[in-house]
Amino acid sequence: MSRRRRIYEGKAKILYEGPEPGTLVQFFKDDATAFNKKKHEVVEGKGVLNNRISEYIFNHMNRIGIPTHFIKRINMREQLIREVEIIPLEIVVRNIAAGSMSKRLGIPEGEVLPRSIIEFYYKADELDDPIVSEEHITAFGWANPQEIDDLMSLAIRVNDFLTGLFLGVGIQLVDFKIECGRLWENDLMRIVIADEISPDSCRLWDMETNEKLDKDRFRRDMGGLLEAYREVAKRFGLMNENEPQRGTGPVLVKSDK
Ligand code: UDP
Repeated sequence: MSRRRRIYEGKAKILYEGPEPGTLVQFFKDDATAFNKKKHEVVEGKGVLNNRISEYIFNHMNRIGIPTHFIKRINMREQLIREVEIIPLEIVVRNIAAGSMSKRLGIPEGEVLPRSIIEFYYKADELDDPIVSEEHITAFGWANPQEIDDLMSLAIRVNDFLTGLFLGVGIQLVDFKIECGRLWENDLMRIVIADEISPDSCRLWDMETNEKLDKDRFRRDMGGLLEAYREVAKRFGLMNENEPQRGTGPVLVKSDK
C-alpha cells in the first residue's frame, strides 16, 4: 500500500493529501491537549467520537447553506474535505461567560451575556493564541475588512444554528471556537467553515444538571471525558445504545446519507 503524503499534523488531527486535487483527508487523533499542549493525554476513542459528531454538525450546516469544507466521512477516523487556505484566526462566540473571558473580565462563570460576543484570537502556538482586535487583523493582513464582516456573519449563523441544535437535545451551548478558510472556485473566493466542531471546541452544559459535556472535563481534571463525548453522540442518535458502555470503545452507527 502506498503511503499518503502528510500535509500537516496538529494537536488533535492530521491532514493527508486527498484522492482528488483540491481535497484533503482529515484524520482525528485520540490526543487530548490543553494549555497549549502543556497538558497532554491519549483518550482512546475520542477521535472516533469527534469525527462522528463533527460530521453530524457539518452535514447539517451544508444542508442549510452554511458553507463548509466538509465533503463526507470516509471511515471511523477520517473525513474527506476541501482544501482551503486557513485564515490564521480562532473565532470564538460566547453566549454565557466561562473560561478565559470569566478570568480576564471577572465575570462569574455561568452568567448569561447581554448578547452573543465574538472574539478573535491569532493562531500562534508560540504566543499562546493571543486575543486580537479587528485593528490587528487588518493591519497585519490576516483578513481584510470585508472578510472580517463575512467571518462575523458566518459565526453568528453557526451560533444560531448550533444553539438550537444543542437545545433540542437538552444541552446549553456556552461558547465555541471555529476556524475558517478561503475556498476558491474558478476566480471566485468564498469563506467557509473548516476544521471541526466537537466537544473539543465547544463548551456544552447539560440543561438540567449543568454537568459539563466537553473538554473542560480534561482541562479541569474532572475525569469522564469519553463518557461525556459519548453522551453528546448518544443524544444526537449517533450511538448504538445496545453497545456496552465500556470495553472495546465506542461503536458508531447510522449514516446521515
Ligand atoms: N477553544 C478551542 N481551542 C482553543 C481555545 C479555545 O477550541 O485553542 C474553545 C474552547 O473549547 C471554548 C471556547 O473556545 O469552547 C472559548 O475558550 P476560552 O477562550 O474560554 O479558552 P480556555 O478556557 O480554553 O482558555
